[in-house]
This record gives sequence, C-alpha cells and structure tokens, in this order.
Amino acid sequence: MAVRKVIIAGGGVAGTATALALQQAGIEAEVYEAHPSGGADAGAFLTVMRNGMAALAGLGAAEAVNAVSFPARAVALLDAQGQELGRRPIEGPARSLTRAALYRALQDLAATRGIPVHHGKRVTAASSDRDGIEVGFSDGSRVTGDVLVGADGIHSRTRRLIDPDAPEPRYAGLHVVYGYTPGNPAGLDLDEYHMIRGSRAFFGVTVPGGDGRTWWFARIPGEKPAAGITAQQWRDLALRMFRDDATPAHALIAASGAEIVGGDSHDIPTTPHWHNARMVLAGDAAHAAVPAAAQGASMAIEDAVALAAALHDHNDPAAAFAAYEDRRRTETEETVAASARLSSP
Ligand SMILES: Cc1cc2nc3c(=O)[nH]c(=O)nc-3n(C[C@H](O)[C@H](O)[C@H](O)COP(=O)(O)OP(=O)(O)OC[C@H]3O[C@@H](n4cnc5c(N)ncnc54)[C@H](O)[C@@H]3O)c2cc1C
Repeated sequence: MAVRKVIIAGGGVAGTATALALQQAGIEAEVYEAHPSGGADAGAFLTVMRNGMAALAGLGAAEAVNAVSFPARAVALLDAQGQELGRRPIEGPARSLTRAALYRALQDLAATRGIPVHHGKRVTAASSDRDGIEVGFSDGSRVTGDVLVGADGIHSRTRRLIDPDAPEPRYAGLHVVYGYTPGNPAGLDLDEYHMIRGSRAFFGVTVPGGDGRTWWFARIPGEKPAAGITAQQWRDLALRMFRDDATPAHALIAASGAEIVGGDSHDIPTTPHWHNARMVLAGDAAHAAVPAAAQGASMAIEDAVALAAALHDHNDPAAAFAAYEDRRRTETEETVAASARLSSP
C-alpha cells in the first residue's frame, strides 16, 4: 500500500526539509516539533555546504535560505602566533547562518506551502500494525498516519522506539562555545573563515558581510561533559583558553555581547537500525557528527531528499526505508568519522 500520510517528529532541519521534499513527491506530511518555538542550541551558527545548498535548491528552498544567510567563501588556517599556515576557497555556494535562522526559514517556507508545523508536540510513543501507525505525544494527544519519520535530533526518541538498545550519543571530548562580537574589531576579510590552532583550544571566526557582527566559536578539549554551565561561565572558560595566544581570539571573546551559547559535542558513529516497518530516522537522529566537518545540516537535507524519493518510488514503506538507508548510510557514517578525526587534537 502506497504511503499517503507521513508524521514527522522534529521541526529542525531534517524534519522540515523532509516535509518539503515529500510534498514535492505528492505525499502529505505533518511536522510535530517538541520545542514551543524553535529548537535547543538555536543561538549557534553553522554552514550549509555546497551539497546541502544543492539539495535545498532542488526543494525550491535555496532562495529562502539565501535571504537569511551569508556567503562562506574561503578558509584560512592560522597558528597560535597568528601566522597564516594556509588558505583555500570553500567550494560554493556555501552559506553561513544561525541555526535559528535556518529553522525559521524552513518552517516558514513549509507553512507558506500549506504544510502543518505543530509546536509544543513532543513525540513519546508509537504503536503500529499492518495498516499504519499511531503516534503519542507528551500532552496525551495522538495522531495516526502511514509512517513516522524520526527527525528528532541527536537525542532522538524515535531511535529508541525503533531499537531500545540503540547506542547513546558518544561524548567527543569537546566543549563548543559560540558568540557574536559587534562590528569587525579584528579587521578580518569579509565572508572568510579564520581557523586558529591556539595553544590550548581551537578558535574559528568569520565576519559575514552585511551582518555587522563578528561570529566566533571555540572548540575546547574537556574530558567530561560539562552540563549546567551558564553563558558567563562559558565565556570565562573560552577567555582562559586564549589569553596567552598572539591572535585576535581573546579580544574578540572579551568584546562579545551577551549572546553566548556553550555545549558539549557528541556524535553517533553508527546506528544499527535506521528503520523498522513503519518508522525511519533522518538527520542527526540517524548519524550525528561533531561540527568540525560542517556537514550536519547538509547531510540532514540530503537525507530528506533521498527519503522522499524512496517513498515516492516504493509502495511498501519497509522497501522504501531499505532503499533510503542503502543510499545514505555509508556516506553519512564516513562523514561522521571524518568530522571526528578533524576535531581530534
Ligand atoms: C553547536 C552546533 C554547531 C553546529 N555546526 C554545524 C555546521 O557548521 N554545519 C552543519 O552542517 N551542521 C552543524 N551542526 C549540526 C547541525 O545543527 C545538525 O546536524 C542539524 O541541525 C541536524 O538537523 P536535524 O533536523 O537532524 O536535528 P535538529 O536540528 O537538532 O532538529 C531536531 C528537532 O527535533 C526536535 N525534537 C527533539 N525531540 C523531539 C521529540 N521527541 N518530538 C518532537 N520533536 C523533537 C528538536 O526540538 C529539534 O527542533 C551543528 C550543531 C550544533 C549543536
């Protein structure tokens, strides 16, 4: 029986992109997002690389994302003395934007195209039979459909519903702190990334032309996850990391505004079961990478396109899910591994 109605858990990148792709394939989708407005860690920024932008273009979503993002043109690598070690262009189009802006652009586009996006709806349970699936939410409500797509991020509930023994995300030994500094006090070239190998931690910085701010992140080695830390504590930690280096990092952190987001970096090298007969994973729920390769969002959008194509091409959902996994598993696992290698000290 062909799939006609898809329930999507998660209104992040994978969830909204999957809904847009399914609509193009003529399949009805509804998005259920746990967060009342957007998502966690939404203050951070990211880059959608060429592959992700190509997938967005196929969904007719590149324009909406271009409107809220900035080009990422080149990357220069520097040492702790501020000496440039190398420079290369980033294959374009690649775009830098905040996670919040990406979520909003995709959710707004979905709404404009008549796709329902419900907020404050956390998926907690699901039961299926040969006719379809019933999905339950934390507020006690339920919906029915043909299949459930778990686009519910790195701590996916759907992954557990498919396989209660699915591995936990792996702590990558890194804290990541993001912040924004008014203007361009370091006088950096616009739309370029400067990646600085500091003596204690790694610092990345870019000045997106037209935004009027310097965007920075610090990747800080740490043996244990550091949950429950305030923005001020993240700033102080980042300051300590760069105080002895002859680079702009310390001054940029010191001059940054209040919007500082910190967190612990996790990844998922492999998820044994991507699907069962009625449920399937997409994006970070299936294969989360640490940020170093800047591919998490791009992979999520590519998943969306591949999953919708498979559901369009196969009448049986299990056959569609197997074809989708076949297409995506190896590539995404290789990227997760490459990203982990890139961020190891
Ligand atoms: C700090 C940071 C920096 C990053 N930098 C980059 C980068 O430079 N480039 C890049 O490509 N990627 C980057 N990433 C990764 C990128 O953000 C993710 O890979 C991408 O957002 C994955 O999309 P997703 O939709 O799978 O997950 P998410 O974007 O996490 O979306 C999952 C959504 O599901 C919702 N949800 C969770 N549980 C439930 C539930 N039970 N029911 C309903 N909804 C639920 C969440 O609220 C969230 O909105 C970064 C990630 C982080 C955390």
